[in-house]
Amino acid sequence: MSDRRSAIRSLGLSGAIIAATQKRSLAQTDSTPQTDRIANELHEAIRGYQVDDTHCHASTDRYAETTPREFLLATSLAAMPQAAYFPVGVLQRWCTATGDEKAKLDRQFGIEKKLDEMAFNARETIFIKYLTKELAGFLKCAPKFETVIAARNERARGGYGRYMSDLFGDIHLTNAMVDTGCCDGLGSKDFAAYSEAIRPCTMRTIARIETIQNPLFREDIPFEDLESRFTGAVRKTLDGDGNFGFKSWGMKWHQMERLGVVKPHYDSAAAKKSWEDYKRLRGTPASDREEEADRGRRLKEYFLTIALEECMKRDMPMQIHSGDGEAPGVILRRQHPYNLEEVARFDRDGVMRMPKLIPIHAGYPLVSEAAWLSHLYTNCYFEISLMNPTIHQGMERRFGEILEAVPMSKILFGSDSWSVPEYNWLAGRWGKRYLSRALAVYVKEGSLTRDEALEGARMMLYKNNRRIYNLPA
Ligand SMILES: [Zn+2]
Repeated sequence: MSDRRSAIRSLGLSGAIIAATQKRSLAQTDSTPQTDRIANELHEAIRGYQVDDTHCHASTDRYAETTPREFLLATSLAAMPQAAYFPVGVLQRWCTATGDEKAKLDRQFGIEKKLDEMAFNARETIFIKYLTKELAGFLKCAPKFETVIAARNERARGGYGRYMSDLFGDIHLTNAMVDTGCCDGLGSKDFAAYSEAIRPCTMRTIARIETIQNPLFREDIPFEDLESRFTGAVRKTLDGDGNFGFKSWGMKWHQMERLGVVKPHYDSAAAKKSWEDYKRLRGTPASDREEEADRGRRLKEYFLTIALEECMKRDMPMQIHSGDGEAPGVILRRQHPYNLEEVARFDRDGVMRMPKLIPIHAGYPLVSEAAWLSHLYTNCYFEISLMNPTIHQGMERRFGEILEAVPMSKILFGSDSWSVPEYNWLAGRWGKRYLSRALAVYVKEGSLTRDEALEGARMMLYKNNRRIYNLPA
């Protein structure tokens, strides 16, 4: 009996499926489906809008001339920690070695084989296959990866700065908010050169707390000196030219992904004790990564608190790394966006003081958690870099997930480009495309008018960035 019923049900169901399929194919022969049409209309307007990259890094000449393998390794998150796949210093030695020495290192550590494996897998991502087609269009060459890399090298030979500026101009990139704490070895000269190269796009810098904190943590000084030097350096980056010769428009903190739940701390006596403990343990091996991260926890939270106070005085935001890659430095299980709730509240004397907080990288893959945090706390914003452009078409679905909870006034656009300028370009290009598609659904349903959708796009693409960072018009 039940078999017969389910057979009838499934017949009915397949009948419905056939009817729906016929309807769809009829509609497709008549015209494009309504959502696609609206998405295309929105995209026609949105692709010409300005865009601010609210979190990215400076590109240097290192990749002006590159090989397909180098390019793959430079854009793969799995390859980003490549040096950590070998004993300390080995990869660096292999890079600079030649002849017998290089061959010996390779035999001993299997370096080429591991790098080939990373490049092989990177090559098989849809990200790279799609990038190839997109760049081929921009560079006017055949859509083959090796051809595209040769063509971009050729363009770069005519001036890498010019090539970067062309890429940025193509997506109407207007402000690049550059986190200066990434990509070891970059100095004042590099940032000045980058800032010149990308014109007319304006570079504005964001100082990292760790850039100030880490050298101090290697010193053997009393707590009072440590604190005053840290505070003095934070003020100099925010008020003067203390960030590699530039003013900083906010700050970035990159420690939640190691500490897990973080809390503000005002207790200098506890911070002092934490510093003494930290100094005592320095140089002794930790039992595991968590124990190592927990060393000096109170002091680290105390410094975050000082920096947040300084940002609040100036109405500046704090970016906090909360999602995405950077293994092996991060402890993935510790980087949930909800770990930031006490920092978002910033309670003192029973009052939530709520500094401007920007959890960056969309909390990916915990996008909903980051979205819900910014839905609930009015001082919490939402930022999409690295997820954009890494997940390409996946952005359409993620934009839907973000827009269901986050006010459009809080969403910030970014790339997290850390090696090659093509990353900023793809973020602008794909970001606009999939944002248009996500907005089209709301326009089709009537929950947004076309004008509301377009104004929302302008906010997300550049207006929010300028308002939140108080950029001059
Ligand atoms: Zn970054």
